[in-house]
Amino acid sequence: MIQKIKGTMDILPDETPLFRYIEGIMREEAEKCGFGEIRLPTFELTELFVRGVGNTTDVVQKEMYTFMDGDDSISLRPEGTAGTVRALIENGKYGDAMPQKYYYIMSCFRHEKPQAGRTREFFQFGVEMFGAETASADATVISLAYAVLRRLGLDSYVTLHINSIGCAECRPTYKKALTDYFGDKLPSLCETCRERFARNPLRLLDCKVPTCATIAEAAPKTVGSLCEACAKRFDALRRSLDAMGIPYVVDSSIVRGLDYYTGTVFEFVAEGIGAQSTVCGGGRYDGLVASLGGPDLSGIGFGMGLTRLILALKQHGIDPVAPVKPRLYVASLGEAAATEALSIVERLRREGVYAECDLVGRSLKAQMKYADKIGAAYTLIIGDNEIETGKANLRNMATSEQTEVDIHAFSLE
Ligand code: ATP
Ligand code: MG
Repeated sequence: MIQKIKGTMDILPDETPLFRYIEGIMREEAEKCGFGEIRLPTFELTELFVRGVGNTTDVVQKEMYTFMDGDDSISLRPEGTAGTVRALIENGKYGDAMPQKYYYIMSCFRHEKPQAGRTREFFQFGVEMFGAETASADATVISLAYAVLRRLGLDSYVTLHINSIGCAECRPTYKKALTDYFGDKLPSLCETCRERFARNPLRLLDCKVPTCATIAEAAPKTVGSLCEACAKRFDALRRSLDAMGIPYVVDSSIVRGLDYYTGTVFEFVAEGIGAQSTVCGGGRYDGLVASLGGPDLSGIGFGMGLTRLILALKQHGIDPVAPVKPRLYVASLGEAAATEALSIVERLRREGVYAECDLVGRSLKAQMKYADKIGAAYTLIIGDNEIETGKANLRNMATSEQTEVDIHAFSLE
C-alpha cells in the first residue's frame, strides 16, 4: 500500500466545498480591490528564490525542495512573491499604469516539520501590489486580508499586529542597537538565534523558543529608531487603519522573514489554533523588484494560509458550507425504466438541476433508501406503467406530498 508523502494532504469531496467557499471569498474580495489573478509556474530556477526570498531566511536555508534538471538547479515554489515579481519583470508589466495588483491561490512547498497548521505542501492566498508607496496602499492591502477574515466570521478571533522595520536609511541604526543588545546575551539564546545574530539580527525578534522570546521582549523597538520619513509613514498607516475601522496593535516583535522587507510589516494572529497561529503575514518589499533585475519599483503583499484558516473556523465552530444535495432522485424498476430515468436526469441536468438515478443496479427499495441517504429533495419512481402513461408521482421527501407530473415535461428549480 503506497501512502502519501509526509506533510501532504488529500482534500476529499466532503472538505473541498469549504476550500472552494473560502477561495471564492478571497477572489471576490481581491477583485473588489482591483487585483487580477496570476497563475505561476510550480517550479522556477532556484536562484530566483535565493535572490527573491533571501539567502539568510529559513525558507531558503532549510526548507526548499531543490533538484537538478540537466545543468539547472530548480526548486518547487516555497512562496509566491518571487515568482510574481519575476513575471512582472519578464512580461514588461512595469511599463503599465501603476499600481499593478496581482493575487493568487496556489500550493507552495516547504520541507518543514509537519504539525497542525504546518504541512510540506500548503495552500496560500497571496496578493502583491507594485508601484504604490502611499500609506493608503499599505492600508488597502491590509484591509483586503481583513475583509476575507471578516467574511469568514473570524475578525473577532484574530488580531492584526503591525510594525515598521524602517528603510535602508534607518535600518542600520536599528540593527546596531539590536547587536548591542543581544551581543552579551548570546550564550542564553538558542542555536538558530546565535546563527541569526550574525546573518540577520532582526530575525532574533521572532524566535518562538520561550527563553529567546523573553530576551527579545526587552530588546530595543524598531519604532524607536525610525527615520523621520518612516515614522511619518507609519503614523499615516495607523490613521488610515483607524479611518477604515480596522483594529490593530503595534507589535515590535513582528519583523517577518524576508530579507527585502522594508517599512510596513504585519501579521494576523488567531488565538487558540495552536503554535501555528499566524494566519496571514505580509509587508512592504521596496527593494525586491530592482534586486531581481527590474526597475526601482515598490511592492507590498501578504500570504494567507488556507489550512490555518480552516483550523480557526473549526476552533470557533464556524461551518459556513451546506452540503450539496440532489434536487431529484429518479428510481426505476426494470431495464426500460432505467433508460427512461437516465433520460429524465439528463433533461433536468441540462436545465441546471442536480439530479441522480440508479447506476449500480440497486433494488427499488434500496434505491429509495439511497435517495434518502443522499438527501434528495424529490424522488420519482419509474416503472413500465409510468413509461406507458408518461405520468408519475413526484414525491417531496420532506413533506411526503405527491404530485402527478408529466415525466417528459415537469420542471424543478
Ligand atoms: P511561520 O512563521 O508560520 O513559519 P512564515 O513566516 O514562514 O510562517 P510566510 O512565508 O509569511 O510564512 O507565509 C504566509 C502564510 O502562509 C503564513 O502566515 C501561514 O498562514 C502560511 N504558511 C506558511 N508556511 C506554512 C506551512 N508550512 N503550512 C501551512 N501554512 C503555512
Ligand atoms: Mg515558516
